[in-house]
Amino acid sequence: MTTNHQIRLARRPVGLPTADDWTSTEAEVPEPGPGEFVVAVSHLSIDPAMRVWMNPGASYVPPVEIGAVMRAGATGEVTASRHPGFAVGDHVYGNFGVQEYALSDGEGVDRLDLSLAPAHTYLGALGIAGLTAYFGLLDVARIKPGEVVVVSGAAGAVGSVVGQIARIHGCRVIGIAGGPEKCRTIVEEFGCDVAIDYKSENLRDALRKHAPDGVDVYFDNVGGKTLDSVLTRLARGARIVICGSMSQYNATERPPGPANYMALLAARASMTGMVVFDYEDRYPQASAELAGWLKDGRLRSREHIAEGGVRAFPETLLKLFSGENTGKLILALGNG
Ligand code: NAP
Repeated sequence: MTTNHQIRLARRPVGLPTADDWTSTEAEVPEPGPGEFVVAVSHLSIDPAMRVWMNPGASYVPPVEIGAVMRAGATGEVTASRHPGFAVGDHVYGNFGVQEYALSDGEGVDRLDLSLAPAHTYLGALGIAGLTAYFGLLDVARIKPGEVVVVSGAAGAVGSVVGQIARIHGCRVIGIAGGPEKCRTIVEEFGCDVAIDYKSENLRDALRKHAPDGVDVYFDNVGGKTLDSVLTRLARGARIVICGSMSQYNATERPPGPANYMALLAARASMTGMVVFDYEDRYPQASAELAGWLKDGRLRSREHIAEGGVRAFPETLLKLFSGENTGKLILALGNG
């Protein structure tokens, strides 16, 4: 019998998750019934949204139930199939969860073309991270050549693609990231003209220096003080894309609202929330364009692959909040 190791949510965390918030369980690898197939999971997507799914209230998806296998996007290979659309040996992406083997009926599962890129890149620039950057910039912000685009979390999965797409579209890109190493990387690899280290620099002063005529687009991955600082530097007609709020996901008290929101009025600016899943019907066109850029070298996908199998999941998730990752954080499960 092959064992399926799984990680389940044991309780709802307060603040940063701890080891006690999880249980490790074992089950038999499932057998596919009619219309089903089994996937040996190779790589797990480690996402900030996982912290939100651990909370009791629904966000844009329902919370993970206590005792359930933790939700996770993942790639893997079909090992057994009674499904007409999926054959043994197919490489696939789907919501397979934090476990080594997943049973699927094919709902929400995509077949991967490994001639374009390795499986794990479908969790990075060719996956949800890349699509979020793509639609946030091109559909929500509607960037134009010559505009000044500021992106926070610029060395992360979404942010690293934002910088590069903005560069491809002829924008001047200012990236905000934590620490000198990441700041060097976002300029050398991720399309930024300028980097601001939010951990050591005064953000408002740095923005005044690097964007003297104001910021046209702010792609916000972190919220909090960073958002408040950028609000003070908006150009007329600026667009702010609310993609996420890394600085607030582990907050134990209700965070203050953006104090400088009235700057939106003076700048005739807008602030718009976006959820990538709303663009699902347009993924094929966006994916083809992202793959084209990857092929011609204008786009790089950087993946930060942690090892250790499913049992390393709890500590790997924390790397997002300590900022240890550069590029897309992934956990390899050793299957393929
Ligand atoms: P990521 O940027 O690869 O990783 C998170 C990064 O956030 C860390 O590396 C760290 O970088 C930074 N960070 C951590 N704590 C912080 C804090 N307190 N203040 C400021 N920065 C902090 O993660 P990602 O997967 O690309 O996700 C980025 C954002 O996009 C998240 O907010 C996520 O929820 C959001 N998202 C939204 C959608 C959507 O549809 N709306 C889809 C996907 C992702 P530093 O070292 O630079 O601090």
